[in-house]
Amino acid sequence: MKIDGCCHCGRITYEAEINPDYVIICHCTDCQTVSGAPYRANVPVLAANFKLRGEPKTYVKIASSGNEMMLAFCGNCGTSLYSGKKDDPSVFNLRLGAVKQRAELTPKAQYWCRSAMPWAMDLARIPQSPDQRTPPR
Ligand SMILES: [Zn+2]
Ligand SMILES: [Zn+2]
Repeated sequence: MKIDGCCHCGRITYEAEINPDYVIICHCTDCQTVSGAPYRANVPVLAANFKLRGEPKTYVKIASSGNEMMLAFCGNCGTSLYSGKKDDPSVFNLRLGAVKQRAELTPKAQYWCRSAMPWAMDLARIPQSPDQRTPPR
């Protein structure tokens, strides 16, 4: 499936060809901290199928596997864009939040559930509003 992505300010855009069956949610503590959100959704893309325009900033972290992971984000607006192994950037994990077609990309698996927010596993139970108004309880 062809997708395209864009950071919030528009300085960085990309096009990619991905397999929607590989969309996942990650509940690891690094994703929680770095994304500023309770969990993050990703989809992998082969470097050959990833066309990036603009120059993201990068931050290198050591993953639990010991690999040095390069996290790419917009240096202007801070939008998280993707990650990849620092020494072998043959696959990138695109952050679903910056993908325009994200509503069509239902995750197929959840990883690192042992560090998931317990409430994040059942969002449907939390009162809902279509916008910023206080939802009925
Ligand atoms: Zn930006
Ligand atoms: Zn993670």
